[in-house]
Amino acid sequence: MSLDDSLKKELLNLDQQSLYRQRKIIDGPQQVHLISNGKPVVSFCSNDYLGLANHPDIAKAFKQGVNDYGVGSGAAHLVSGHSRVHHELEEALAEYTGRSRALLFSTGYMANLGIVNALMGKGDIVFQDKLNHASLIDAALLSSALSGSQLKRYPHNDMNRLAQLLAASGNNSESFAENKPRKLVMTDAVFSMDGDLAEVSQMSELCQQHNAWLMLDDAHGFGVLGANGAGTAEEFSLDQEQLPVYMATLGKAMGGFGAFVAGSDALIETLIQKARAYVYTTAMLPAVAQALLMSIKISREESWRREKLKQLIAQFRLGAEQLGLSLMNSQTAIQPVMVGDNDTAMSISQTLEQQGILITAIRPPTVPKGTARLRVTLSAEHEETDIEQLLSALARVNWSSVN
Ligand SMILES: *Cc1c(COP(=O)(O)O)cnc(C)c1O
Repeated sequence: MSLDDSLKKELLNLDQQSLYRQRKIIDGPQQVHLISNGKPVVSFCSNDYLGLANHPDIAKAFKQGVNDYGVGSGAAHLVSGHSRVHHELEEALAEYTGRSRALLFSTGYMANLGIVNALMGKGDIVFQDKLNHASLIDAALLSSALSGSQLKRYPHNDMNRLAQLLAASGNNSESFAENKPRKLVMTDAVFSMDGDLAEVSQMSELCQQHNAWLMLDDAHGFGVLGANGAGTAEEFSLDQEQLPVYMATLGKAMGGFGAFVAGSDALIETLIQKARAYVYTTAMLPAVAQALLMSIKISREESWRREKLKQLIAQFRLGAEQLGLSLMNSQTAIQPVMVGDNDTAMSISQTLEQQGILITAIRPPTVPKGTARLRVTLSAEHEETDIEQLLSALARVNWSSVN
């Protein structure tokens, strides 16, 4: 069979299972009221939780960055691509998150690859929640292929199972001279497709009891949780001892692009030496770093954005419960409405789009089979009237075919 015939067969198969994915073309800036496939819609599916993606002061900082640094970064950080503004951003992120140091990565996906690759070697063990983001799973699989570490997965938020796995893995006391196997527990802090939180305090205690290191991926908590928006570590007061590896992304609540890891000096130096996804890639554009310094400033200073988000979440949950919709156990900006079947999720998403509401249907393999859903996300840029419009569109959907 030719390449094309073979691929076409596979694509047809995806289509028949309602798993075919298509991109919508957005015109103009990323914001709540946007133009999708040429039509104005209200978007409920971006991760721009604080409404910063099109903030004028951040755009201005970006332009200033272009003035000062030009466009391309030219090289990897270790060659000649590490500009002063990258360095300032790292210092600002370390300060914001209360860590000794921070290190920029070009994307969150790469940060996760880099962490496991740099820290884990032959015989070492990575522990992960079954619902972790694909980048965490891929990171462990890549490390297992490159260096022979192992991946053990536990059912979602099942702390008893995690404790059993940790206890059964050996090296349960810090006093062993040779710290083998190394143990790294990795979790989404806010689960990306469900919106619920990991049991971070309990996980931190378990890790300390069993001589394991805890790593949080705070892609959906950074900027949103904590009194100052410093994320899940701030919300649960976890210091660098209790949470040695903190990772978050800069393309969601910060409205920019990229990611960082924060922790001890030794952690950051190890990543710089060993993380292949850090060493072998071009540095983020310096102008992006300049813009992100402004994002952090706004996130710290404008806690009204987090307050407003909380009010919108409460408004949406109350209204959706009154409609009898199947919400998930989430208090965060991620408020999925469970559907189940791929085809039904797709057709509801299309019906909503005809009414000017943009919500992507999330299907396997992003979520487990039989749990296709409408992943509603809220932003501080939404107004009460947007939520009302969403709720009345949801009220018009025929839910009888669901569940
Ligand atoms: C979005 C996301 C990532 C990837 O971050 P990018 O910067 O988009 O590559 C990693 N982890 C989680 C939990 C995410 O939601």
